[in-house]
Amino acid sequence: MPGLTPGVASALSPMVRRILAPNPGLMTGPGTNTYLVGIDEIAVIDPGPDDDGHLDAIAGCGGDRIRWILVTHTHSDHAPGAAGLKERTGAELLGFDERDGFTPDTAIGEGFRLEATEFRLASLYTPGHASNHLCYLLEEERMLFSGDHVMEGSTVVIAPPDGDMAAYLDALQRLRAMRLRTIAPGHGHLIEDPRGKLDEYLTHRGQREQAILAAVDDGVSTVDEIVSRVYVDVPDALHPVARYSVHAHLLKLAAEQRVNGADLEGKWTPARRSL
Ligand SMILES: [Zn+2]
Repeated sequence: MPGLTPGVASALSPMVRRILAPNPGLMTGPGTNTYLVGIDEIAVIDPGPDDDGHLDAIAGCGGDRIRWILVTHTHSDHAPGAAGLKERTGAELLGFDERDGFTPDTAIGEGFRLEATEFRLASLYTPGHASNHLCYLLEEERMLFSGDHVMEGSTVVIAPPDGDMAAYLDALQRLRAMRLRTIAPGHGHLIEDPRGKLDEYLTHRGQREQAILAAVDDGVSTVDEIVSRVYVDVPDALHPVARYSVHAHLLKLAAEQRVNGADLEGKWTPARRSL
């Protein structure tokens, strides 16, 4: 398995190379993965943070053959490098919308297809982690660039109101129904068993939801108390961000009329269920 070393391009397939950005952290694992797709004409997926060394490494690898820069979403570890990479290469910026300082030359959504001479990339609208999140499918290799929708080795946080648990789970189910050969995540190594990974994600979220529902049924009424009770398998350092995912689960359960409540800081109670 090619290593994850910042600044060094590693070949993942005949068509795809990866350069790791030097931004490791609690939420980014080893750092953000930037992907270069194509040889004669190159599409860059997620330029990462605005880091000169990283952008120089990408430009050094692709040069003026970089024609397009795509972002999966506009969070700070994925999109801020877009403008600097455009300056270096003259490439076209593509993404869902203008947000967080990112301005696409072309706004794209579900079903957009980028046709290069050697490959085609198709976009899938996958909200949940961010409301402007897209995944990209490299059709020739059935490789899915999943951004932060699916990661390897670190946690996907769903933070309302921009994050939406029901939408997130729907989008995971949709990916599970596709024939994928590999998933190239925004963080971590290439995922060689997409179906297994997606099953793991869906099972994990289902178990969390059941545990959260059981806690509320037992009279545990605040998000903080629910985190302490349910996230026993997660390091304490991640509990502050786990609160957001618990809130997201609770909002989904409230929409399904299985709990009552609304706020991250408020009280949550069991919904009366008819037998
Ligand atoms: Zn990320």
